[in-house]
Amino acid sequence: MVVGAGSVNAAWQAFSDELARWCDAGRTVDFWWRDDDAAQATPALARLLGLAQTSATPLALAVIPAHFEAEAFAQAGLMISLLQHGTDHRNRAAPGEKKTEFPAAEPVAGAVARLAAARARLALHPRFLPVLAPPWNRLPEPLAAQLAAAGFQGLSRYGARAGALAAAGVVQVNTHIDLIAWRAGRGFAGDGPCLQAAVRHLAAKREGTADPGEATGWLSHHGVHDEEAWSFLERLLEATGHMSGVRWRAAPELFHAR
Ligand SMILES: [Zn+2]
Repeated sequence: MVVGAGSVNAAWQAFSDELARWCDAGRTVDFWWRDDDAAQATPALARLLGLAQTSATPLALAVIPAHFEAEAFAQAGLMISLLQHGTDHRNRAAPGEKKTEFPAAEPVAGAVARLAAARARLALHPRFLPVLAPPWNRLPEPLAAQLAAAGFQGLSRYGARAGALAAAGVVQVNTHIDLIAWRAGRGFAGDGPCLQAAVRHLAAKREGTADPGEATGWLSHHGVHDEEAWSFLERLLEATGHMSGVRWRAAPELFHAR
């Protein structure tokens, strides 16, 4: 898709204007960054970790336990957190159900047992946080209600959260901006759509139609990034990383047990 430089600049200007509204109101913008589907050492993962390091941005990696190779994360520094991205990322949806690893028909006890077994692989990593980021961002509510008992302190899906807790004892912090256009060739969604999604969530928080306590989450998928997606991320982190009034929050702060 060819997008004129004019509309790209306009999108960045609108984003900058929204940040300025927060600043004028004396409020702090909280962002966080989740990247999905990490598991093994790949050039894309190395690039992602390098970007987090050079930009000094906290990064939460949603890691697929079944494919997890500990060596790939041996160098993960203090800015990196590991979340649990389901168990094996296999689509178990029933016919007519949207893609999910956790179909509505699966007994909760079975799903909990799967999650616990998978978590044991990740839990040895010193940067692991017991936070579930389910593949395709989908989890049945009866299973969410059992997460605390299953040892999880957090849940991360997609879209403005309905409340600070997904269930008793489970802190909920979602993502709100997906960098990938999954239904349009799995390429970068574009500066305009990404920045507009950010402005929408920020404006909703500012106006009180979304929970102002939820950090606005940027969702990346390093394994499918094209150059445009990488460039956008670099520009975003560079533009906001040192901006007064903007904080990039680390997952351990956001998902601290309460
Ligand atoms: Zn995934």
